[in-house]
Amino acid sequence: MCSNSRVRWDGLRSGEEPGLFDVRLLGAPGRVVSSPQFAGITFYEIFARSILNRVPDSSRVPFRWTINPYRGCSHACRYCFARNTHTYLDLDAGSDFDSKIVVKVNAVEVLRRELARPSWRREHVAMGTNVDCYQRAEGRYRLMPGIIEALADYRTPFSILTKGSLILRDLAALQHAARRVDVSTAVSVGFVDTELWRHVEPGTPSPLVRLEVCRALNEAGIRCGVLLAPILPGLTDDDEHLAATIDAIRKTGATHVTPIVLHLRPGAREWYLAWLERHRPDLLGLYRRLYSRSAYAPPDYRRAVCAKVHELALRAGIGASEEARNSSRWEHPRRQAS
Ligand code: SF4
Repeated sequence: MCSNSRVRWDGLRSGEEPGLFDVRLLGAPGRVVSSPQFAGITFYEIFARSILNRVPDSSRVPFRWTINPYRGCSHACRYCFARNTHTYLDLDAGSDFDSKIVVKVNAVEVLRRELARPSWRREHVAMGTNVDCYQRAEGRYRLMPGIIEALADYRTPFSILTKGSLILRDLAALQHAARRVDVSTAVSVGFVDTELWRHVEPGTPSPLVRLEVCRALNEAGIRCGVLLAPILPGLTDDDEHLAATIDAIRKTGATHVTPIVLHLRPGAREWYLAWLERHRPDLLGLYRRLYSRSAYAPPDYRRAVCAKVHELALRAGIGASEEARNSSRWEHPRRQAS
């Protein structure tokens, strides 16, 4: 038994650097795994103590509970706002976040235990709000089918936000759940410029594939909208990019669209700005102006961009989400991941 919470992992395959991190935050360490099918990615399997996370009351997000079976995300979006959470584990917010993925291998078992508590009120549970639950790791660990089934068994409504096409693997499980509880989904597509996609979201399925996922979910009777996020200042906030994105969204039959302008929290800020410096140094001045005081772009700028999206969406006949219909919350303050 290790008395120190900073544990060097055992069970490594040859030649791997395990890294150190603070397991007190997450649970008990299991194995460290690499596989030729997931080249460049190391999975840190842990046994979580809990899986249902209570969102602080001070948060303005429209849900009180989340489930995050993974930490880190191989989708590797340069701007990912969850990057900083990897530093809590003594891993870095850059390439470690993309390639060192913590897997809560007992997620389903712990979830069932927590849902069975008499104190559980069957409140809405949101998934994909921190990191993507349908990132590549899910192809190996298959945690989501058990999570979906457990939530449905305990009559707990839920939503899933993702950039991963792997969600379609679980279509039958989602349909089965939707017969018993309220199920909603959303895909995140901030732009459809494929050149930019390769640079900014290098580990994700392409935006058009994600929109096809949206179409497939809606056609299968699973409500799916689009989070038009993040809108990148100077890169995708112009009329041409927004109109092309809305047009592509329109063709999927999305039930609603919610725009969110990029926010740059510590961790994401350094990683994203380093990319910008390499590829679009001409935009650094704009970003310094927009994000010098806050992780959020100035309210006037956000309002103007979101109003433009709103107008384009209305013209295209796409509905706004519940939160977007409330104009004061047209731009959701927190949700950007996945
Ligand atoms: S934005 Fe979402 S999909 Fe992209 S790296 Fe972050 S969690 Fe993964």
